[in-house]
Amino acid sequence: MRCWKCKNADTKVIDSRIVDNWQTIRRRRECEFCGFRFTTFERIGVTDLMVVKKDWSKEMYDRGKLKRAIMLAFAKMDDTSNEKIEEMLNILESTWQIQSNEISSHQIWDDVLNILKEEFPVPYVRFASVYKSFTGLKDFQKFIS
Ligand SMILES: [Zn+2]
Repeated sequence: MRCWKCKNADTKVIDSRIVDNWQTIRRRRECEFCGFRFTTFERIGVTDLMVVKKDWSKEMYDRGKLKRAIMLAFAKMDDTSNEKIEEMLNILESTWQIQSNEISSHQIWDDVLNILKEEFPVPYVRFASVYKSFTGLKDFQKFIS
């Protein structure tokens, strides 16, 4: 696992822990070059979850893609925000998989917004502004009020 601060490829695991009812292994890693510490999560991938898009076309759910979109909403990415996003995705994916093997992109978007709204007001507004096509400042103001 590459250090995401200095990009050095050698990082060592300093702590491993099983979380989420044995579904996830949380690893604390340290970069052997710059000493930066970060957390990674290893888990069974979401299989067979199809995303139904606005135009009714379907595609496989892509955790990485969703994560990148959420990361954009967090102005400063650090270990804490990374951990929070991973945790949030774990919760959401478990919920989605229990419900059905299909989910609409709209539902994904709504669920992410709901969690952000509760816990991360600033990323919430950013995430919403990326995904809602605001027609003007008025709409944006109406939305955040
Ligand atoms: Zn490093």
